[in-house]
Amino acid sequence: MTDSSIIPVFDGHNDVLLRLRRGGLNSVDAFLNGEAPGHIDLPRARRGGLAGGLCAIFIPSPFIPSPDQPKPENADFATPTQPDALNETLAMARLLLAIEGRSEGAVKICRSAADIKRSIAEGQFAAIFHIEGAEAVAADLDALYVLYQVGLRTLGPVWSRSNVFAHGVPFRFPSTPDIGPGLTDAGKDLIRACNELKIMIDLSHMNEQGFWDIAKLSDAPLVASHSNAHTLSPHSRNLTDKQLDAIRDTGGLVGINFGVLFLRDDGVRNTDTPLDILVRHAAYIAERIGIEHVALGSDFDGTTIPAALGDASGLPKLIDVLRAHGFDDQALAKIAHQNWVRVLEQTWGG
Ligand SMILES: [Zn+2]
Repeated sequence: MTDSSIIPVFDGHNDVLLRLRRGGLNSVDAFLNGEAPGHIDLPRARRGGLAGGLCAIFIPSPFIPSPDQPKPENADFATPTQPDALNETLAMARLLLAIEGRSEGAVKICRSAADIKRSIAEGQFAAIFHIEGAEAVAADLDALYVLYQVGLRTLGPVWSRSNVFAHGVPFRFPSTPDIGPGLTDAGKDLIRACNELKIMIDLSHMNEQGFWDIAKLSDAPLVASHSNAHTLSPHSRNLTDKQLDAIRDTGGLVGINFGVLFLRDDGVRNTDTPLDILVRHAAYIAERIGIEHVALGSDFDGTTIPAALGDASGLPKLIDVLRAHGFDDQALAKIAHQNWVRVLEQTWGG
């Protein structure tokens, strides 16, 4: 059980499955029992009050930079093939199933908002099966319907690269997110199918045209699970004020990304980044679109985060800094988990 004095955090994005995948099924026990590397394992999640979140299945680009062949600055990322991505997705989904299966009730793959509420109340890690970049799904969408039945509940059509559905926003700094075209016809079919199945659509990693295409088409609240304010950090991955306003108008949310690249105003990958900068993004977004639309999207195990936070066990430090800024207990509960639960409930239905 988590310490009752700690505010439970339900988080919009982690890449723990990607890290564990490198260790195969053996890494399941390391996750459950605790291990040194990375940002999340179960003991550290409990210490920090990390009650659960979206566990991403992300397929790395086939291009692997090496000392001889570094990835050129601002180069677009290569896209894995659909069969490769589906195979890898199945392997990572099996990891998640194995974590739940071997956890003796400590981890639950949640398929409804009621599941999440119950898991948080019982101190059980609430994992959501999420796909970041739908390369595993072909234009016929067969895999989408099958993966839904084994628990898929949220999906980002793209990571920061192009696929059959849309064009992801490349990593650029400083840059607007307005880079390239939006949804393809297959992408529009994907959005309609997600609405039909009540799969949450994640807008983080969409370019601006894709964002607006989805805003026009989708009947669900707009959600960017792990993105920040472009006004404070002009990275192509961050959200313009106009995009923030659209998220507010649909009752959606923004999960604040802990990645220093998306927090800082200088685009430098420097772990010596004070948590105050993270709070500044939360405060800016709350001021502009309301506290109901601010949440967390750590990007744990997927990016470089402030050394001051360290890993999941450091979350209480972030809560303390938010509190010192003036967020009261009611506001903190909204940011930490209530907004996520509300938006998922609205998207998925009771
Ligand atoms: Zn991401």
